[in-house]
Amino acid sequence: METGDLSHIRAEKVIDVQGLCVCPGFIDAHAHSEFTLLADGRAEAKVCQGITTEINGNCGLSAAPLLGAAMEQREKDLDELDIRERWNTFPEYFALLEGKRSSVNFVTLAGHGNIRASAAGYTDKPLSDTQKENMLELLSDAMKAGAKGLSTGLIYPPGIYSGTPEIIELAREAKKHNGIYTTHMRSEGDMLLEAVDEVIAIADQAGIHVHISHLKTGGERNWNKLNDVFERIGAAHERGISLTCDRYPYIAAGTDLDAVLPSWAFEGGRSRELERLKNERQRLAEDISRKSGDPSGWERIMISSVNSDRNKWMEGKSLSAISSASGKPVMETLFDVLVEEELQVSAIFYSMNEDNLKLILKRPYVVIGSDSSSRSFDGPTAKGKPHPRGFGSFPRVLGRYVREEGTLDLGEALYKMTGLPAKIFGIQRRGTVAKGFFADLVIFDPEQIIDRAEFNDPFRRPEGIRHVLVNGVPVLLDGELTGALPGRVLK
Ligand SMILES: [Zn+2]
Repeated sequence: METGDLSHIRAEKVIDVQGLCVCPGFIDAHAHSEFTLLADGRAEAKVCQGITTEINGNCGLSAAPLLGAAMEQREKDLDELDIRERWNTFPEYFALLEGKRSSVNFVTLAGHGNIRASAAGYTDKPLSDTQKENMLELLSDAMKAGAKGLSTGLIYPPGIYSGTPEIIELAREAKKHNGIYTTHMRSEGDMLLEAVDEVIAIADQAGIHVHISHLKTGGERNWNKLNDVFERIGAAHERGISLTCDRYPYIAAGTDLDAVLPSWAFEGGRSRELERLKNERQRLAEDISRKSGDPSGWERIMISSVNSDRNKWMEGKSLSAISSASGKPVMETLFDVLVEEELQVSAIFYSMNEDNLKLILKRPYVVIGSDSSSRSFDGPTAKGKPHPRGFGSFPRVLGRYVREEGTLDLGEALYKMTGLPAKIFGIQRRGTVAKGFFADLVIFDPEQIIDRAEFNDPFRRPEGIRHVLVNGVPVLLDGELTGALPGRVLK
């Protein structure tokens, strides 16, 4: 059609959008849904937020490659979600996801953790030339299969064992395939500025677009570093480096509880880590105290999910509260729960600052990412007390930070959720409402939109979102989930 004349088209359904905001479907720039989508493709908590496309494979962890030690390390996560299928490569995973289908579109990065563990396991040893070559080949295969770039998680094993030159070499390979480099940096607190410098050095030497995941200043003693972070990024931009970031609109972080352990604890994989938690408690405790340096810190770490029934009561409670209730010292409490749950414990860390959050959200190069896996309100993903960002991030930005606080204006905020992430991750014909583009759409009431999920009660739907369409198919209609699964894998 050359003109706007649509009179020959007979619509199956007419949606009245009077007084509502019609905009491109939201792109969640930071998702971790590679496993949960296989367990439950409905992704209801994402759909209810207006998310139509997710960028997955963040923080060094992606669906593939999963070979050898990399696969072994993930067995527990897959079992927990009752996923029986196993795969090694992206083409195998994509075929599986396309067979099961999902409500949202799937984009992925290739996780450095997958690549390194597939080639070299979880050891803290220098890589051999063969291992390095294998890693380059695995990355190249992933990019050819449709990954959009390389992601690292430099606080998690095995990423924690890799140096800058290793990452530069891989980033150069990603660049050859027009990919980007995203990173959960080596530090988000005490060594934050050094970590930002590392990202910029990688951008310089690999000539690649770099993207900092969940930009934050973690820990009170580091809150004053934000200006220095902005200055470094500004200076990099002036030198022609392309650098962007994402952020979720909350001041508490969420990750695996064992992230509090020192790096040597992870060496050799899960079973070795568990042995150390049983046998090397003294040394672990000393290193943890040195690393955190804040004896009141345990009040600010809350357990959000465990597997066993006997520890369910801990969900939603801080480590210090659990320690008092069980009459055990807090380190003992920490080690015991990790051992009893075989490391499968998620936690919330109250470590950030509201003013800094607003300053970060305002930066024009910061997009919105939930940093969550997809969940539904019943079924295998409806467990524990996961971080509310998986249920409320996008409505919270639009309700709280646009309408109530005026931190951003509506247009700015929407661009951070649509056009800008589409550009950063190279997503074609989405992120804008235009002729010839896919009909991923969100229709919401800007006066009503707000998140309702709480830390102690996260499984709550946001308000104000009326309709969500993915590839032209309604997944939310008149506020009701339709159960349709029109999502595609975008390669
Ligand atoms: Zn991360």
